[in-house]
Amino acid sequence: ASGHSLLRDPRYNKGLAFTEAERDAHYLRGLLPPVILSQEHQEKRLMHTLRQYQVPLHRYMAMMDLQERNERLFYKLLIDHVEELLPVVYTPVVGEACQKYGSIFRRPQGLYISLKEKGKIFEVLKNWPERSIQVIVVTDGERILGLGDLGCQGMGIPVGKLSLYTALGGVRPSVCLPVTIDVGTNNKHLLEDEFYIGLRQRRATGQEYAELLDEFMSAVKQNYGEKVLVQFEDFANHNAFELLKKYGTTHLVFNDDIQGTASVVLAGLVAALRLVGGALADHTFLFLGAGEAGTGIAELIALEVSKKTKAPVEEARKKIWLVDSKGLIVSSRKESIQHFKQPWAHEHEPIKELVDAVKAIKPSVLIGTSGVGKTFTKEVVEAMAALNEKPLILALSNPTSQSECTAEEAYTWTEGRAIFASGSPFDPVKYDGKVFIPGQANNAYIFPGFGLGIIMSGTIRVHDDLLLAASEALAGQVTEENYEKGLIYPPFSNIRKISAHIAANVAAKAYELGLATRLPRPQDLVKYAESCMYTPVYRQYR
Ligand code: NAP
Ligand code: MN
Repeated sequence: ASGHSLLRDPRYNKGLAFTEAERDAHYLRGLLPPVILSQEHQEKRLMHTLRQYQVPLHRYMAMMDLQERNERLFYKLLIDHVEELLPVVYTPVVGEACQKYGSIFRRPQGLYISLKEKGKIFEVLKNWPERSIQVIVVTDGERILGLGDLGCQGMGIPVGKLSLYTALGGVRPSVCLPVTIDVGTNNKHLLEDEFYIGLRQRRATGQEYAELLDEFMSAVKQNYGEKVLVQFEDFANHNAFELLKKYGTTHLVFNDDIQGTASVVLAGLVAALRLVGGALADHTFLFLGAGEAGTGIAELIALEVSKKTKAPVEEARKKIWLVDSKGLIVSSRKESIQHFKQPWAHEHEPIKELVDAVKAIKPSVLIGTSGVGKTFTKEVVEAMAALNEKPLILALSNPTSQSECTAEEAYTWTEGRAIFASGSPFDPVKYDGKVFIPGQANNAYIFPGFGLGIIMSGTIRVHDDLLLAASEALAGQVTEENYEKGLIYPPFSNIRKISAHIAANVAAKAYELGLATRLPRPQDLVKYAESCMYTPVYRQYR
């Protein structure tokens, strides 16, 4: 290839890091200024530039530009500064990026499949430059983070998630495919926005929607085979549960909002047992919010309890209660109860208010997954503190403004007795002379390692036991030193190691269940996972 095209290809471009020999061999002379920088030096320079941007969105755009210019350098930055850059390329900044996608849009990333492509999706996939794909993250943009329907502009999410697959889980970028399915949007604001990049129509539903998705799912399998992992992301809950059920038996599918969340939260709960005592089966759980996150977590807790106690899962569900927008979910409820909530409709008189539900159910664990902020009021938290020596409180709603309570409130209102973690990050809190570090139940702990484990073992179906294996591995990574600070999740700085352990445990379970097709099974799965992981150091070009 010519030197010029080498500089334009993000997969091969090294910018000023091309050596003298490479500049001679690849017709780069004169196309670059004389100086030669090491990758470390480039990294330092870029971090310096990035930190000068005061507006978070500008950092996001700078990172996207880098990804399109020099892929290895992009991943080197992301891996080496994961705690600083995760919030930039992923939540919360990616949310703002999606909202403004139409205006900041430059070079398209990912694959757009709209109703216009109906009947041609197989050919559309052929337009993607890579032939062998191992992970697809797909959204239809209807429920982007906590921001609602962003239509076609949801593309930022699959792009961001797949960057994390690579940076945190070591999945090679070339095997990752971000997809946005555009069936329209019901977002009035976007429909009227002159810069909107998607189909200007209301969402297709029913058969029209189902047919497009079906064509997509078939085309994916036909193009990439049985072992391509399809991660559904940020679908509204009326489609999310159905899609997972519909394709769960024919495809390798995973829904991060339901299953990934469940796995990361279960890991935190298992780890928290070290601090609060007892077994999972000894605890009583109350959720505020019975959607994808809430019911997904509840189901995985019940499964884990039933495995540990050897009791039927129906039995385990009895100590798990959920409150939705209508109050405590009970069997006597007059209105019809959605399918995915029915397992949780226990016998009890109706209760409207959360605080009354706390007093009646007497939970030891309170979990917020409603997306509505400030719902764990002083009264609610104090009721938890009155019932428990160490109340376990998880305020999972995102973004920060929607958190059920702040870390400070949780510690203050329980006189420093709460074990607290949240969906959005909170700074450490000083209370009564002691420093408390709140944990973050970030899905990014699980899905990259989970995906790596699936891919490296050639697993063909996602089974709930694989989610339990991922939780177990994550909980196992919390150290004594972490516990002393009140943490129920390990620090993110170790994420590559954590991902390797998760991948290994998931793969081990897949082999055990006969779902893994890569044979023979590697002896040391942690070592094998590490050896599979992509590293972004530059290659030498002959
Ligand atoms: P979802 O599927 O839309 O579910 C929301 C649930 O909350 C529904 O059951 C809804 O009730 C209920 N709800 C809404 N307003 C309520 C109110 N005022 N009082 C009581 N219940 C109310 O959403 P999701 O995907 O589960 O996500 C929920 C939240 O969890 C979001 O903020 C998301 O960011 C967060 N989340 C965090 C993590 C994490 O920390 N790792 C992971 C995933 C999600 P109805 O069913 O009656 O409508
Ligand atoms: Mn999501």
